[in-house]
Amino acid sequence: MDLQSFLLLLIQCRTLTAAKGYFWHITDLHLDPQYSAVPDPLKVCPSAGIQPVTNAGAWGNYLCDAPWILVNSSIYAMKEILPAPDFILWTGDDTPHVPDEKLGEQAVLQIIKNLTNLIRHVFPDTQVYSAMGNHDFHPKNQLPAEEHQIYRTTAELWRPWLSDHSVETFRAGAFYSQLLSGPGPARRMIVLNTNLYYENNNETISLEDPGGQFQWLQDTLTHAADAGEKVYIIGHVPPGFFEKKRGKMWFREHFNQRYTEIIQKYHSVIVAQFFGHHHTDSFRMFYSSTGTPISVMFLAPAVTPWKTTLPGVHNGANNPGIRVFTYDRDTLLVKDMVTHYLNLTNANMVAPEWKKEYSLKEAFQIPDGSVQSMHLLLEKLKRSQDHLQRYYQYNSVQYDQTYCDDNCQTDHLCAISEVDFVRYSQCIQAQNAAASPSASMLDVLLFYSMTGFLTLGLWGSVSRLGHEQDLVVFV
Ligand SMILES: [Zn+2]
Ligand SMILES: [Zn+2]
Repeated sequence: MDLQSFLLLLIQCRTLTAAKGYFWHITDLHLDPQYSAVPDPLKVCPSAGIQPVTNAGAWGNYLCDAPWILVNSSIYAMKEILPAPDFILWTGDDTPHVPDEKLGEQAVLQIIKNLTNLIRHVFPDTQVYSAMGNHDFHPKNQLPAEEHQIYRTTAELWRPWLSDHSVETFRAGAFYSQLLSGPGPARRMIVLNTNLYYENNNETISLEDPGGQFQWLQDTLTHAADAGEKVYIIGHVPPGFFEKKRGKMWFREHFNQRYTEIIQKYHSVIVAQFFGHHHTDSFRMFYSSTGTPISVMFLAPAVTPWKTTLPGVHNGANNPGIRVFTYDRDTLLVKDMVTHYLNLTNANMVAPEWKKEYSLKEAFQIPDGSVQSMHLLLEKLKRSQDHLQRYYQYNSVQYDQTYCDDNCQTDHLCAISEVDFVRYSQCIQAQNAAASPSASMLDVLLFYSMTGFLTLGLWGSVSRLGHEQDLVVFV
């Protein structure tokens, strides 16, 4: 090789490595400051409610939210695995699952402050993009569509990560957008407050565009398209349905529709979306009206292992998970995603050890985390029992090792493939009919009752009633 070819190769190698970057995504830490591994099963953690917690270990329990030692360990594990990421995504839910009376505004803010300080202490020079969760407010879920003391205080806590303009918009509605730093083409992070669209939020029940966030999002995306920017969108409560409970949506229907329409309109500038709230590891596909895959949303598993009390969810706990993305710094293309986890049982019985759980590319043999590749993954999950079962184990971060039966498969596949309410119902109906043709009459009846609920807007009311009956139901 002559000198000129060698130099050319060197430049090409440098360009290739320069374009590759890494970032963390953590979510749903849900610190329970009062966790204590005492022998009395009723005094281990307030987040277990009235459930007795036997054999509580130092590192936590599946019935409880995360003790400080576990939260601390997760942040230090990030530092050990990848100490210098380009940035960190932190998508909310910091406080324990306890009734509002046991927290209060000061306690909520103190927990947000403690976690913020921990992350800043471990990653002092790292840019963090942080979104509020439905539990980062008092009373929980009731995030308002205008200025509030909690928004103002949180903006101050996060000021080191925010531009002056972001502080301003955050104080007004807890959302903001910022350009990513570094050389190369312009890339933008949009941080949303989708708690405004949550069906349990009574503050926004009669509003069409709470906080003007939809209009702001459209304006921001229009500007991004004009400026040739590439965009990531992050938030806490995702649109669409919970894959562990049939028919369980989070957004009110008109909010879900508006969000989906915005993604459809601006998909060419949105490279990926990153959300939390489910505590499970999954993803969501968005399609054009003609069925072309246009966008993907990655749902990250929680750090808290807490078993959900949502009625109808069977054994919904998880092992603590954290995940790192490899991406192209110029285009924001997701190249791979590696999830690391702590086997909680093992941590309590032997030693706390954060291990690699899986790489998206390796586990599913797909080229990357692009929209097309994630569509390919969905097709593999539909066709291959092996792939589906593997996905299912990752869904609870290796907690639930049981077989995902026909009903379970339907719930997961329809939730992944259909964010739209009506299309989700149609998917459930079609899967049921395919699985059991003889039961199709019952399916048709079920389908029409579901779409009837949707049309009449009663579906959300019924679901809300379910929540009001059980005051210790949160996600
Ligand atoms: Zn949560
Ligand atoms: Zn949440």
